[in-house]
Amino acid sequence: MNEPTAPWLAQRAEMVRAQLRARGLRNERVLAACAEVPRHLFVPEPLRPQAYEDHPLPIGLDQTISQPYMVALMLECLEPTGRERVLEIGTGSGYQTALLARLCREVYTIERLTPLAEDARRALEGLGYANVHYRIGDGTLGWPEAAPFDGIVVSAGAPEEPPSLLAQLAEGGRMVIPVGDRWAQRLLVIQRRKGELHRRTETACVFVKLIGREGWPEG
Ligand code: SAH
Repeated sequence: MNEPTAPWLAQRAEMVRAQLRARGLRNERVLAACAEVPRHLFVPEPLRPQAYEDHPLPIGLDQTISQPYMVALMLECLEPTGRERVLEIGTGSGYQTALLARLCREVYTIERLTPLAEDARRALEGLGYANVHYRIGDGTLGWPEAAPFDGIVVSAGAPEEPPSLLAQLAEGGRMVIPVGDRWAQRLLVIQRRKGELHRRTETACVFVKLIGREGWPEG
């Protein structure tokens, strides 16, 4: 792939300016990561020219790579410092995984659909990310052996807050999760402080379904 990188760089800079900063995102570490990660390498090849546009894109198997703004907003809500061990549910394309790998210490990512998980892993390993742990399975149950986590990001919409994930959130940790019905959810930021869970709603959103034991039933 000996294509020139300059046009992609320019498209990323424009994405950060027009879609992220212009909408009020201010976390400089998150914005810098978005300016660096080659999003076009996480979308199917024919869609690469659209990789930096302001909308989700199909990645196969009825799933999508989320809109750049939504990914950046979720990461801003996590407030990563670089020291965190984080759990990501819904690896999908692996794009958000790459951002997490830059923004946090260790990333544990779970995807239920094997072909997506394999493509994402190939793309992430090709880019040299070495602090990512991969699992294929039902992410609603979390990753108990690696818990607790300083951050949990759920990239698919849940009907309720999965109790297993709440239980795996460390003291001081934050979980970002869309909760609601099939076509309309609220993006919740849940923080554990002094053992208590505190919740706020960040925005309205629409994600694909979180399917699993503590999510939606299959089909
Ligand atoms: N952040 C990803 C989002 C992909 S869409 C990206 O931008 O590419 C959400 C993903 O969650 C889909 O790939 C879907 O298969 C996955 N998913 C849904 N339910 C899941 C579950 N219970 N465990 C793990 N992954 C799940």
